[in-house]
Amino acid sequence: MTDDALLARANARIPGGVNSPVRAFNAVGGAPFFVASAKGAELVDTEGRRYVDYVQSWGASILGHADPHIVETVQRAAAAGTSFGAPTRAEVELAEAICDRVPSVEKVRLVSSGTEAAMTAVRLARGATGRTKILKFAGCYHGHLDALLVAAGSGLATLGIPGSAGVTPGAVADTVVVPYNDIPAVDAAFLEHDIAAVLVEPIAANMGLVLPATGFLDYLRSRCTGAGALLVFDEVITGFRVAVGGAQEQFGITPDLSIFGKVVGGGLPLAAIGGSAAVMDHLAPLGPVYQAGTLSGNPLATAAGLAALAQLDAAAYVSLEAKAARLVEGLLGAFSAAGLAAQVTQAGTLAGLFFAPEPVTNYAAAQEADHGRYARFFHGMLDRGVYFAPSGYETTFVSLAHSDEIIDDTIAIATEVATTL
Ligand SMILES: *Cc1c(COP(=O)(O)O)cnc(C)c1O
Repeated sequence: MTDDALLARANARIPGGVNSPVRAFNAVGGAPFFVASAKGAELVDTEGRRYVDYVQSWGASILGHADPHIVETVQRAAAAGTSFGAPTRAEVELAEAICDRVPSVEKVRLVSSGTEAAMTAVRLARGATGRTKILKFAGCYHGHLDALLVAAGSGLATLGIPGSAGVTPGAVADTVVVPYNDIPAVDAAFLEHDIAAVLVEPIAANMGLVLPATGFLDYLRSRCTGAGALLVFDEVITGFRVAVGGAQEQFGITPDLSIFGKVVGGGLPLAAIGGSAAVMDHLAPLGPVYQAGTLSGNPLATAAGLAALAQLDAAAYVSLEAKAARLVEGLLGAFSAAGLAAQVTQAGTLAGLFFAPEPVTNYAAAQEADHGRYARFFHGMLDRGVYFAPSGYETTFVSLAHSDEIIDDTIAIATEVATTL
């Protein structure tokens, strides 16, 4: 299935042949395919093979690939100029669209990646509170900024240690890592440290899909309020995906800051950080917390984001959730028919899959799942034209373009593959 010549050229000139590590298939083995084009639920590779795509640009393409309205809007924007480095109407309209959908966001700044948004959140939280410590959770991913690239699976309220070569102990000395869903560990961290902010994925979707335990997010909210720390929801995946107003709407919790990415850019490079005006006004040029970007609020990206959000009304989420439920139910049936222990979970429009005997509630448990079996599942599906995420630590994304018929075909294929695992 691989275009071998292209793979050789990629490996010669791009480290590992890819521009983001998970694309290299290291977690599942084998060689990646090269995408030539995509439409709706389907990818086509450079050898003309077709795949039903459950990655959807890691959730960014919630409408399906090459949505006609987004394509047309971006083409029109491109003809009017691709970048100005000066204010535009579309930036204002996208900021308004975000604030309209997410009540906790009174003001928003647009950036170009989720990493940038998380980096700004850390700096802003420190600048606004005058404190330094950031609390994060093992297995939560917030992009590749040094301060948050901390070895996961740390013990109770221990100080972070570097998780990547090149990240100095100093860069993570002010990062405290505790297990997800572990209220006593959060409590201990607050007793020990003067916390500036708690960063959390309100639905963890980067260690596979791990749901917040009942009361966990409420506890974070009240603990932060009591301690004068900021609660930062990383809604880069959940924002505009699990509901119009994201996970914070679903759980009825108001964070101080939120970061968005993926869906909000309609498939172009765009992300955002938003929150109360009081906190956001610490940003330059109003306040002393510096933040900037040559391509921030890029006119193609803002056009795509607006075109995407305009199509995501309440009915769209009802439809997406039904699709996710259909897939989850079908996969559960496929695995149980084959006698396999599997946890197939759903959070709104997200689906997760662990080959594990018990529900997975944190990163340590996610690591104990059978990732070898996931790799065999991945390749069995890929060989039959269905592309799931190339790692058992990722999430399954349906789009509005995944028809019931497409999902039922996937379930039939999974039922066959399950007997081979
Ligand atoms: C993808 C992701 C990020 C990083 O976004 P990039 O645009 O890849 O930098 C941050 N947080 C979460 C929860 C993500 O899923």
